[in-house]
Amino acid sequence: MSTMTTGTVYLVGAGPGDPELMTVKARRLLDSADVVFHDSLVGDGVVDSIPHDVRVEPVGKRAGGERTPQAEINDRLVRAARAGREVVRLKGGDPTIFARGGEEAEHLARHDVPFEVVPGITSAVAAPGVAGIPPTHRDHASTLAVVTGHEDPTKADSALDWDALSGLVDAGGTLVILMGVGRLPDNTAALRAAGVAADTPVAMIERATLPDERVVTGTLDTIVDIADAAGIEPPAVTVVGDVVGVRETVARCLGSSDAMAEAPVATPHVVGVTDSD
Ligand code: SAH
Repeated sequence: MSTMTTGTVYLVGAGPGDPELMTVKARRLLDSADVVFHDSLVGDGVVDSIPHDVRVEPVGKRAGGERTPQAEINDRLVRAARAGREVVRLKGGDPTIFARGGEEAEHLARHDVPFEVVPGITSAVAAPGVAGIPPTHRDHASTLAVVTGHEDPTKADSALDWDALSGLVDAGGTLVILMGVGRLPDNTAALRAAGVAADTPVAMIERATLPDERVVTGTLDTIVDIADAAGIEPPAVTVVGDVVGVRETVARCLGSSDAMAEAPVATPHVVGVTDSD
């Protein structure tokens, strides 16, 4: 029987992209790990900051155009830990928000591998935040829902209740949609069909906290054309709700960070929410 002690797997959030938005604990674990398995969403700056003596294994869902099957990732985590390695499983944002961290934790537990969750700043909160849009606000929003926009809203067994989400937005809540670029037309149509007002403010934040971050704003009726004209691509976060209007009030003084200062100006496509109806 092997006397080797099983290593620990750390399910670590890398934050939204800017390496300075990683936790101190994530930094320490990356510096001392034996091996790091990372997703493609993890910012290049974060990956580049991993010391050269740490083995780095990209297992991004689309690394080199190929998907690494989840079962294979699960298996590699267990094998590395059983070989006595200290393993970091690094994910963009927070490891438990639309990142399969929960499934990996279950798999590790089933195989008696000790693990620890190291939370990261999720893009669901960071992206609106850096764009001057507070997900909650005493005067505008007391509820926050974070959903995946990846599902087909017309699918009968859709996991999302668009009527409920529409009610939330109507009541002044904030809806944050991740993975929602491809299905933006479907999702905005689903909200409209469920009765959300056409002039409800919407923002999209592309590559938040990275040097080429871009923000576009519009309304439920205009955002599809605006995003299309601007060529918004994943990864981007979509925010629906009155809080988007706060950006307009604060934009004048926003953007003192390096990332914002260097961001390409998307002015032709930025529609002030008050001018758009
Ligand atoms: N675990 C991640 C989310 C993974 S799902 C987190 O907590 O942030 C992938 C989606 O996250 C993308 O489609 C996009 O909607 C969002 N996302 C992640 N990083 C982003 C970034 N820097 N800017 C904008 N959106 C981002």
